[in-house]
Amino acid sequence: MNDESDSAPSTQHSGLDSGRIARNVREVLARISRAAIRAGRRPDTIRLIAVTKSVPAERIRPAVEAGARICGENRLQEALPKIEALGGHDLRWHFIGRLQRRKVKAVVGTFELIHSVDSVELAAEIDRRAGEAGLQQSVLLEINVGREATKTGFSPDEAANVVTVLDAMPNLAVRGLMAIPPPAPGADDARPYFQAMRELARSLASPHLHRVRMEELSMGMSRDFEAAVEEGATMVRIGTAIFGERRG
Ligand SMILES: *Cc1c(COP(=O)(O)O)cnc(C)c1O
Repeated sequence: MNDESDSAPSTQHSGLDSGRIARNVREVLARISRAAIRAGRRPDTIRLIAVTKSVPAERIRPAVEAGARICGENRLQEALPKIEALGGHDLRWHFIGRLQRRKVKAVVGTFELIHSVDSVELAAEIDRRAGEAGLQQSVLLEINVGREATKTGFSPDEAANVVTVLDAMPNLAVRGLMAIPPPAPGADDARPYFQAMRELARSLASPHLHRVRMEELSMGMSRDFEAAVEEGATMVRIGTAIFGERRG
């Protein structure tokens, strides 16, 4: 099968220098802390996912040295050499992109958390491969919170049924939800979607579930992460505000 995501030329970053990347990380961490405090939350309950897609390993290193502990990647082939190159650091890797079923075997166990489970079939494949590897794979369910025709993810209406089905998968550990709200110009435009996500997570949490947990909310990107933190995000995924604009 031809796979465009492997052969497509990767985008280039604008090449911020190491000092600037380190300062950006410290600034983003400070802004996360201040947003948490404004919302009456403990800053250490929110984790920064530094989105390193299209960023080479040598520019990820200053981010790690400045305090980034988790990297988010959306392409397996791009991620693997970087995971190898940065192996000496105390660093976790999260998979945040569209995941094809035939790549699940390589992703399971390599990535601490898969943010982008968008179908029951994909969940079943992760469960199967995790079972073969003798581990439990943590995942989030991607929710199409804006009900956009162009986006994947579960609709908010089907989430309750999906959670029931996934709860029966022994090697899958559902930890919560992830969303990418519709693109919007302002930092506050996504706020209603963040609120809808928090409400959905609350409505899905149930004592009848055995494995599924609703403790993580992965939402908020460079332009709106403070609003996301104020509305309950436990993970924010940030690329541009750390590494600069991506150039296609
Ligand atoms: C690229 C990407 C991000 C980061 O977006 P920025 O606007 O650069 O912060 C976050 N989440 C996902 C799923 C992404 O693909």
